[in-house]
Amino acid sequence: MKLKIGFPRALFYYLYFPFWHTFFTELGFEVVCSEPTNKLSLDLGVQETVNDACLPIKIYHGHVAELKDKVDVLFLPRMVSVRKLDSEVFCPKFLGLPDMIRNSIEGLPRIIDDKVDLSKGFYPLWRLSFRIAHKLDRKGWAVAAAFFKANKAQRRFSAYLAQEVPAQEAIYAVIGGENLSKSVEIPKPDVHLAILGYPYLIYDAFINVGLLEKLAQMGIKAWTAEMVPPDRLEAQGKNLPKNLFWHFSNRTMRATFYYLKEHKVDGLVHVTAFGCGPDAMVDKLMELESKAHKRTPFLTLSLDEHTGEAGVLTRIEAFVDMLRLRRKGNEDLVSYHG
Ligand code: SF4
Repeated sequence: MKLKIGFPRALFYYLYFPFWHTFFTELGFEVVCSEPTNKLSLDLGVQETVNDACLPIKIYHGHVAELKDKVDVLFLPRMVSVRKLDSEVFCPKFLGLPDMIRNSIEGLPRIIDDKVDLSKGFYPLWRLSFRIAHKLDRKGWAVAAAFFKANKAQRRFSAYLAQEVPAQEAIYAVIGGENLSKSVEIPKPDVHLAILGYPYLIYDAFINVGLLEKLAQMGIKAWTAEMVPPDRLEAQGKNLPKNLFWHFSNRTMRATFYYLKEHKVDGLVHVTAFGCGPDAMVDKLMELESKAHKRTPFLTLSLDEHTGEAGVLTRIEAFVDMLRLRRKGNEDLVSYHG
């Protein structure tokens, strides 16, 4: 029987699952993913986590609690940095996550929690992959072959994201679990919104109460950070007077500059988790940048475990109504002045 490796469907799942799923599967393991976030994951997470943790961390605990009795090994890497020669790291909660999990949840199976730090040394991902494979009794060419296939899968995934395919659909397409369902096409959207924030908030439809789907139903085109071509996103770094230290915070700010300066949108929505330390700063910076760029309308959507569908919908509808009125006002002004 194949060894089962558990992968929680939360946090870095939305960006790196295609790589690790392919890598472990090619090495002959069965990868078991937790269910999409639901009421049970939330309840388990709230029960197992310290009170002042942010919502995504609670949800992650819930996914681990759901998986722990179904797998032989849990893959809970310690995410430190994914950028070469950079001082940018993941937020402290990511850095301490395996320790938080060990101290909060009882009855855990074996855990693989190797440090993912791609900032230093030669071929860090290659060396990390071999180290992890070695722990699972896999060596040699089989590991090299799995690594190359995993890299290819990850590149395909990035290409899907750049083609505006939502993350979960792109993941299904790459790992071959389901056919790529066509992303919702909006015939002629009259409003374009940049929906920015951490991928685990933007793409987890339970946490954000189906935000992307609702926008599509309202005929609004949502643009996310993952849709920005990587080189264009990278180039926006020069607009930041100072590195913000945290990986996803920098990424959100780079996307903010891109959508404000290069790819016109009608408004900016920052999706944030209540209690997120890094976002306290990011939210203010985004607000200031929006004002500086022709007073582009800006909305903060703060999510926590009590967030309800009606609340999010009402705020988005009011924001979009304001954008449409604003545009109409501008058109009336133009026609008045002839
Ligand atoms: S960046 Fe914010 S939302 Fe994400 S894990 Fe850290 S504190 Fe939580």
